[in-house]
Amino acid sequence: TRKLTVITGASSGLGLNCAATLAKTGRHFVVMACRDVEKGKRAAKEMGMPDDSYVVMKLELGSLQSVRDFVFNLKAFKSARPVNNLICNAAVYKPTDPEPAWTDDGFEQSMGINHFGHFLLVNLLVDDMAKAKGARCCIVGSITGNTNTVGGGLVYPQADLGTLSGFEKGAKKPVAMADGKPFFGAKAYKDSKVCNMMTVSELHRRYHESTGIAFSSMYPGCIAETSLFREKRPWFRKAFPWFMKYVTGGYVGMQEAGERLAQVVDDPQCTKSDVYWSWNGGAQQVGRWSPDGKPRGAGGSGGEIFENEQSDAVRDRETAKKMWELSVKACGMD
Ligand code: NDP
Repeated sequence: TRKLTVITGASSGLGLNCAATLAKTGRHFVVMACRDVEKGKRAAKEMGMPDDSYVVMKLELGSLQSVRDFVFNLKAFKSARPVNNLICNAAVYKPTDPEPAWTDDGFEQSMGINHFGHFLLVNLLVDDMAKAKGARCCIVGSITGNTNTVGGGLVYPQADLGTLSGFEKGAKKPVAMADGKPFFGAKAYKDSKVCNMMTVSELHRRYHESTGIAFSSMYPGCIAETSLFREKRPWFRKAFPWFMKYVTGGYVGMQEAGERLAQVVDDPQCTKSDVYWSWNGGAQQVGRWSPDGKPRGAGGSGGEIFENEQSDAVRDRETAKKMWELSVKACGMD
């Protein structure tokens, strides 16, 4: 029987390519959790996903009610069958907005969608996933949340949750930032990614032993062509893929990035919990894993997967615990 695999933000970019990769293996039935269901359906067709390999369901992460509704609908759809894999992939990035935009619940959107929406989603599904054998949960991270790498550390601004005084104040309008300081879009995204990665470690500490679920994060490489950069200027969208490809070497194509994310839930060797997966050797090299099980030849895709180090900021246990407790409050789970 096929694994039941849920992917958020599966209507474009990394999520879509991951969904298509998994669906085509024949080993997964994919639930594409999308804010725009029609867009998700069109995208699945364009990718040539077999008709009986997926379903598109509504999920607006900028609304905690929508998250709850999604879980309700998902449970009705799948009945007793547990969720085997949950991939939290959706995100927004708003580096050029001068003013914060807010979610239905009053969170600044990057933190609200990328972190709080997923935080509630995972928490609502943990019990269900515990019933599956070898369940896996991956929250997509980023080096931008990692202060010890070039992309995350040297490129201004840095992620910094401070003492979480913004979360302490409730994390809602007019409070825009986790540290309680004035809105700064590029930093809000990085802060949200740090929260994503801290959530993985906290999930591991709290639930791995009792549930057997493997919790992980991953950095897919820089997929410079996705819509994540839709708010950047045209010259940037042209120059950025080139820069990542030839200058930093961090560039990865969209399909290959999707295969990397798929690997985290499909490769029998990725069962370890509390891991931050990354790939070395760059894209387009010989890799061990491939969706069809046949090793790729030279020139094929697939850098080699490895367990990367978390940044000190992400490993800060005390802040992670506080982040968790304040997120529970902010999401009305207490
Ligand atoms: P995209 O913008 O292509 O994909 C983001 C997805 O999230 C889209 O499907 C989008 O839906 C969905 N989404 C956005 N807002 C919401 C919402 N409110 N509710 C539900 N879904 C929503 O970007 P990427 O594919 O690049 O990003 C995917 C992940 O990869 C993100 O977590 C990002 O942080 C991460 N990442 C990306 C990197 C890159 O270089 N691109 C590098 C490192 C990490 P819609 O299709 O309707 O717009």
